[in-house]
Amino acid sequence: MPSKDRLRAYRERRDFDTTSEPEGSDPAEHKDEPIFVIQKHAARTTHYDFRIEVDGVLKSWAVPKGPSTAPRDRRLAIPTEDHPLDYAHFEGVVPPDEYGAGPVIVWDTGTYRNIKEHGEPGGMSQALASGHVEIWLEGKKLRGGYALIRTGKDRRERERWLLVKMKDEAADPARDPVADEPQSVLSGKTVEDVAEKEGTGEKSGEQSSDKERG
Ligand code: MN
Repeated sequence: MPSKDRLRAYRERRDFDTTSEPEGSDPAEHKDEPIFVIQKHAARTTHYDFRIEVDGVLKSWAVPKGPSTAPRDRRLAIPTEDHPLDYAHFEGVVPPDEYGAGPVIVWDTGTYRNIKEHGEPGGMSQALASGHVEIWLEGKKLRGGYALIRTGKDRRERERWLLVKMKDEAADPARDPVADEPQSVLSGKTVEDVAEKEGTGEKSGEQSSDKERG
């Protein structure tokens, strides 16, 4: 697919006159290690958007329960549209009536490497196509191997994947970072802080309280 087209779904769903989300530079390779980002997003339901840089865009999955550090946990991950690389820095409130309305924070970010194909060119695209990705994360909250495994499709024909912590020295069943480490690694804010600061829904009597919207 021509690289520009990969962000079409992302752009079509958003009104950039309304939302402060980045319109996105066109897909571009950079020479550094590829990045990952996990954004906590208190939309209609709170979820964690797990994104990894592949071929100049952020491949993305919505993980309702967020990532775990315990290998026994299998966390549902539903693919969403590719996002532009500059989305990795986005924190703020997606306005009411926009796609994904609600506050977003950068819950974790860092670099990753492909441990399945040992970083061979094309390895990540192949791994995604085959439905079995194994990556080593070097984040602020999360470290170590994580597998993303495609398991099939749901009744709406959406692909279902699982995000699973691999067994390695960074696995830690005693941790619960989703519950215990809710702050942004960029700003220290929680989604509640961000929602409050930007005053989501303050002008509309029909908005439910921010805390209930997730
Ligand atoms: Mn989201």
